Amino acid sequence: MRTYTYKAKLNAHTHRNLTEFLTQQRLLYNGALQERIDCYQKTGESIGLYDQRGSLTTLRREDEWFRKFDRWCQDSALVRVERAFKRFFRQGRGFPRFKSYKRGVQSFETLQKKPTFNGKYGYVKLKGIGRFRWRQDGRCDDRTKVKVLRVVQRPTGVFIQLVCDDKPQRLGLNQAIGIDVGVHLRAALSDGTVFPRHTPDRTEIRRKQRALNRCETGSNGRKKRRASLARACYRARVRRHNDLHRLTSEIVKHHGKWIAVEDLDIQAMTASAAGTAASPGCQVKQKAGLNRSILDQNWGTFFSQLDYKAASAGGQLVRVDPKHTTQRCSSCGGLPIKALTLNDRWYECTHCGYRDDRDVNASKNVLLKGLALFDAGGSFPAVSATGRPNQDMGPDRHGTV
Ligand SMILES: [Zn+2]
Repeated sequence: MRTYTYKAKLNAHTHRNLTEFLTQQRLLYNGALQERIDCYQKTGESIGLYDQRGSLTTLRREDEWFRKFDRWCQDSALVRVERAFKRFFRQGRGFPRFKSYKRGVQSFETLQKKPTFNGKYGYVKLKGIGRFRWRQDGRCDDRTKVKVLRVVQRPTGVFIQLVCDDKPQRLGLNQAIGIDVGVHLRAALSDGTVFPRHTPDRTEIRRKQRALNRCETGSNGRKKRRASLARACYRARVRRHNDLHRLTSEIVKHHGKWIAVEDLDIQAMTASAAGTAASPGCQVKQKAGLNRSILDQNWGTFFSQLDYKAASAGGQLVRVDPKHTTQRCSSCGGLPIKALTLNDRWYECTHCGYRDDRDVNASKNVLLKGLALFDAGGSFPAVSATGRPNQDMGPDRHGTV
């Protein structure tokens, strides 16, 4: 599944209707959440998506305002309540919260509407809202492949997202690489390539935050500056994503599509050091700074982009256990007598004399672990841990790396 995003054009009338519909979605979401809570408190039993769809039908019969819009676009709010409860029960996430007037609902999706394409433009007309139009760019031309149509309101405009059922194509190089992500270097590859760390420029956002803070609560100036800050934050997010897309595309195109990375628990790594009131932690500020620089590297997005890009190039991304990947020697497999600290930038093996950048050494270890996990149906391209393609395609190719 791939998602393609297009900036939509819509007239003022459609814009107004969209705002009205998103307000209704917020009320519907909050109503559905309240209905579940009430039902559980009164009867001790839970209601599900199907019961709530029934309630929506009743509501549409009784209220003209709800009848005005498309039934299957409205369904989006109910599906989202269902998903929020699934995350709460199955993934241990927080209890679903009501959507406030300020944050609201910014998007909705439908499985029932397909767009129309006429060469240059794509269109979709939604009942009660109006017509959306966007410029086609050749990424998605087949309307039968569109599974989900999503409308997203963002600070810089309205966007249409088409979630398509695209089959991966086989192309590109046949090489396997290991990647070590870090804070000193953004990423080190087992073929020796290193990408420098990423430090986002926050000056514009800081300036706009200060300007917002100076405004009086409830004033028109505050409203304007709030929107301006939202646009700046959104632009920063787009920039960050574009940077990452450039990086991950380069890795898959020029370095390898069989990729091994460390299976990092980012949430645990970036937990606060504050502790509890009974047993307060130490170096809380320092830990917060480290957390910020870890999160600035966007490892989660980095991995998920690599995952789908590798898959669509006919390769695979595997996650390996990060244990000892930094400490072990990638040449002889020995562990150092004295453990490496964060300040040691070079790896020097006391057993075999191997010397390398510490992060490159780690990425080679990641690759060694990953080779056993690739599921290539016997056609796995043979490589050595140094990234050189292996000439010998014999049966011991996994053992000799
Ligand atoms: Zn060694």
